[in-house]
Amino acid sequence: MAEPKSYRNFIDGEWVEASSRGALEDRSPADKGEVIGTFQDSGEADADAAIAAAARAFRRWRLVPAPKRAEYLFRMGEILLKRKEEYAREMTREMGKPIREARGDVQEAIDVCYHLAGEGRRLHGHTTPSELPNKACFSVRAPIGVCGLITPWNFPMAIPSWKLIPALVCGNAVVLKPASDAPLSSYHLVKICQEVGIPRGVVNYVTGSGAAVGGRLTAHPEVRLISFTGSSEVGRLVNLACADTFKRASLEMGGKNAMIVMDDARLDLAVDGAVWGAFATAGQRCTATSRIIVHKKVLKDFVDRLVERAGGLKIGDPLQESVDLGPLVNEAQLKKVMDYVQIGRDEGADPVLGGVRLTKAEYGRGFFFPPTIFTGVTPEMRIAREEIFGPVVCVLAADGLDDALAIANDTLYGLSSSIYTQDVNRAFTAARDLETGITYVNASTIGAETHLPFGGVKRTGNGHREGAAHTALDIFTEWKTVYVDYSGKLQKAQIDNG
Ligand code: NAD
Repeated sequence: MAEPKSYRNFIDGEWVEASSRGALEDRSPADKGEVIGTFQDSGEADADAAIAAAARAFRRWRLVPAPKRAEYLFRMGEILLKRKEEYAREMTREMGKPIREARGDVQEAIDVCYHLAGEGRRLHGHTTPSELPNKACFSVRAPIGVCGLITPWNFPMAIPSWKLIPALVCGNAVVLKPASDAPLSSYHLVKICQEVGIPRGVVNYVTGSGAAVGGRLTAHPEVRLISFTGSSEVGRLVNLACADTFKRASLEMGGKNAMIVMDDARLDLAVDGAVWGAFATAGQRCTATSRIIVHKKVLKDFVDRLVERAGGLKIGDPLQESVDLGPLVNEAQLKKVMDYVQIGRDEGADPVLGGVRLTKAEYGRGFFFPPTIFTGVTPEMRIAREEIFGPVVCVLAADGLDDALAIANDTLYGLSSSIYTQDVNRAFTAARDLETGITYVNASTIGAETHLPFGGVKRTGNGHREGAAHTALDIFTEWKTVYVDYSGKLQKAQIDNG
């Protein structure tokens, strides 16, 4: 077997080793013997160097006209499109999502590049009349400065692109710290930044632990914004750390997403949506369907069909086109899922499918776990309340729409939700009353489109919405209001005129 490639940090336009000279191994979760590459195990000094480079570069980059900044991003989209297959395959190898889904992850970055390249010629502000004569008023978007981007492993190219690309078009400089389980996909993104000629220091990339590199980014006074996606536990710590230096913190965190299936739903459609929502990416999506709340009248029929469909999913090497379910990302995640399955059993829920680790030889070298469906789940059970982040879905019974909505909203999280019904009144009531940032009608809880605001409420988010939508620009810019008085005399605003 060839020696695994060694990847470096990217600081001030150079590929450099970490000062500690430690290394992190990026291993395939489908075959833990396979090392995809080694990455720098950086420390605070490396983060400091990247932040200093970004701060220097920001002074020049913010003055590059936005349409020119956008041209770099368009070229990034072109390169990504050309290399989509190569990057998708490497992504599947490093974090285990089926190849078809990995292509979608790269496609998302392409879409973000193209969409935000157009934004370079918009970045609209506002003009408004002044209350005084011979005075003009307008507001413009101003970049924030150095942005720390901290990302998870489950969408290893899409999520970094959601942060990096809007940050750049808005005129910020960045330090990107990817999750250690999937640093290669964001390495590709950064490499392309270099290829298209984004000036040195504007984009920096530092791999390493959350505590050392992430912790330094959140603490450093010159970093003016942290854009974080990850668990609610870590997001809370990030938010606290940001408060110390008055940074803006944009947080996208965990979920416990519910799908409601009403008695008038098209059950075939609902089952399709449930299987896709619960088991795509082996349930490791922040928007994964982890609770299905089914009207009592159709409960048995729905569960029978769901079990049959989920039982037919193909599990195995995620590089094979026909595979539906790859491995979990690492051993800790596998253990967490197995622990929750045990908790579910102890709580009295019934695992009607799966629930036992796959042990056949073909699974032995990876972290495979089968689709698992619990019935007899009640809202107070831990498996119905806590984020499991694996191929485990809980089915709960409801008496009607009000009951279903109450169960769906009885959670600390609020990312995505969905309802299957043929009744327009029920659909609109649910769209209004589900306490989530995203709601689907007659579609699964997963599958957001990048030009629409993405994010959640309660412990899922802190009020920001990312992706490539206009709301992403709100994260990466400050509003600056400009008054121009061309009267040639002192004019006082109405508040000062008594
Ligand atoms: P995680 O919280 O463990 O890690 C996320 C990132 O934070 C990693 O890069 C990690 O190294 C870093 N980090 C860890 N400790 C840190 C610290 N003290 N200071 C700064 N950074 C630190 O999450 P994960 O396991 O990588 O991802 C899974 C989680 O992400 C799930 O909870 C999932 O729901 C969530 N997620 C949310 C969204 C969303 O948009 N809402 C999208 C994808 C994933």
